[in-house]
Amino acid sequence: MIYLKNYIGGELVGPVNNEHIDNYDPSRGQVYSQIPDSTKEDVDKAVEAAEKAFPLWSGLSKSERSDYMIKIANIIESRLDEFAAAESLDNGKPVSLASHVDIPRGVSNLKFFATAILHYASESHYMEGVGVNYTLRKPIGVVGCISPWNLPLYLFTWKIAPALAAGNCVVAKPSEITPMTAFMLSEVCKEAGLPEGVLNIVHGLGHKVGDAITRNPRIKAISFTGGTTTGETIAGIAAPMFKKLSLELGGKNPNIIFADCDFDKALSTTMRSSFANQGQICLCGSRIFIERPIYEKFKEAFVAKTARAKVSYPSDPEAKLGAVVSKPHMEKVLSYIELAKEEGGTVLTGGEQVVLEGEYASGYYIRPTIIEGLDYQCRTNQEEIFGPVVTITPFDTEEEVLTMANSTQYGLAATVWTENLTRAHRVADELHSGIVWVNSWLVRDLRTPFGGVKSSGVGREGGFEALRFFTEPKNVFIKS
Ligand code: NAD
Repeated sequence: MIYLKNYIGGELVGPVNNEHIDNYDPSRGQVYSQIPDSTKEDVDKAVEAAEKAFPLWSGLSKSERSDYMIKIANIIESRLDEFAAAESLDNGKPVSLASHVDIPRGVSNLKFFATAILHYASESHYMEGVGVNYTLRKPIGVVGCISPWNLPLYLFTWKIAPALAAGNCVVAKPSEITPMTAFMLSEVCKEAGLPEGVLNIVHGLGHKVGDAITRNPRIKAISFTGGTTTGETIAGIAAPMFKKLSLELGGKNPNIIFADCDFDKALSTTMRSSFANQGQICLCGSRIFIERPIYEKFKEAFVAKTARAKVSYPSDPEAKLGAVVSKPHMEKVLSYIELAKEEGGTVLTGGEQVVLEGEYASGYYIRPTIIEGLDYQCRTNQEEIFGPVVTITPFDTEEEVLTMANSTQYGLAATVWTENLTRAHRVADELHSGIVWVNSWLVRDLRTPFGGVKSSGVGREGGFEALRFFTEPKNVFIKS
C-alpha cells in the first residue's frame, strides 16, 4: 500500500492525526493507496510555513522565481510517462489522454507563467502638468488553491503557477479523489530545491482541508475550481472576510450546429467535445442543438460513431473512453440517464454501465450515451451531469436556439458550427458564456481570459488576468 504525504515547510509529512483515507483506482474499483485525512491543524502548519517563506520568495527577482518554476516543469517533463501513468491510474482516463493532454499541459502551465511574469508590466497614468501615477503590483501573501478531480495536475498547476510566479506562497489542496500527481509534484519541488514553505500541499477532504483553507484569516485569496454548490459555500465563508476570490464552477454547455457547417469537422469534433475524458471536462458540450435540415443526417452519423467508440481500461491504446472517476460519480451519471427516460427522452445509444472482463470487472465504465426527445427546460437539460451523456435537440431559427442555449443557470463555454462568418459573430455575441469556440472546441491559448458567467463562476483565469488576480495593485502618485 502506498501512503501519500503532505508537503509542508519543504518536508513530506504525515497528517498530525495520523488518519488516512482510501484512494481508489477507478479502472479496477480497488483501493490502491492511502492519503492523509488532514485537518485544520495541518492547514495551520502549512499557513505558518507559507508565511515564513513569503519574505524570501517575494523578495527574489522575477527571473529567480521563474528559474525555479522552469526547473520544476523540466523535471515533470522528463518523467512524463510516469506522471501520465499515475494520472491515468488515479483518475481512470486513458493513458493516451494523460500523456497527450494532462501532463504536457501541466508542464506548459508552469513554463507559461514562469515566462509570463517576466513580461508582466504595471500601468502608469500621466496627468499633464500635475504629476504621474504608477501602479505597483504586489504579491498578496499566502494564497489558497483548491482544485477538482477531472484534470488533476492540469488544473492544480493552472492555479499554483501564476500564484507562485507573482511572488505569493501557496497552500494548495488537490481533490481527495485524485491526489497522486499533486503528491508527485511535491517530490519534484523538493528535487528542484524550491525553498521550503513556498508551496505547501495538504491532502484531505473538502469539508475539512478545503474548509480550513477557506476560513483561515491569514490566507488572503482563494482560487477555486469545482462544483457550483461548493463555490457557493466557499464564497459564503470567504466573502465576509474580504478575501479575493476566483471561482471556476460548473457548466452545461451548448453546442450549436447550423446546417451550413462543415459536416465532417463538426461531427468529429462533437465526438470529442461530448465524450473526451468520459465527458468529465467542464467545457464539454452536453446540449447539442442541430438545425433541422441536417438533424436526421447528423443524428445518424453521430449515433453510429458513438456506438463504435471503444470503452476500455485506460492502458488499452484503442480506448476512446476509460473509467469515470468514482463509484458515486458513476451512480450519479447513471441516475441522470434514468431521469432522462422518466422525462420522456429516448436513449439512441449507450445508456448503461459497461462491465469489462478480468481485473477490470469492478471498474466504473459507462457507455457513451446520446438522448433525444427532451424539452430544453427539463432537468436533464438544465443540470450538470459531468459524464459521457449528451442530448440532441433540433432547432429551426437562430432566435429559438439562442433561447434554448441561454436557458440554464450556467454560462461557461459554447460551441458554434457554421460557415457563415456574419452569423458566427452575431451568435457568439449573443451567447451568455465566458468562452465561445467557432468551428472548433477546446483550442486553448493560455494568454486568453478563461472563466464563466452566471453560476459558472466569478473572475477569470489565464494570462495576465491570473497575474492580476494574484497581485494587489497599489497606486502611487508623484506630483510634478
Ligand atoms: P467539488 O466542488 O466537489 O470539489 C472541488 C474541490 O473542492 C475538491 O478539492 C474538494 O475537496 C474541495 N471541496 C469540497 N467541499 C469543500 C468545502 N466545503 N470547502 C472547500 N473546499 C471544498 O468538485 P469536483 O466534483 O471535484 O469537480 C467537478 C466540478 O468541477 C464540476 O462541477 C465541474 O464543472 C467543475 N469544474 C469547473 C472547471 C472550470 O474551469 N470552470 C474546471 C473543471 C471542473
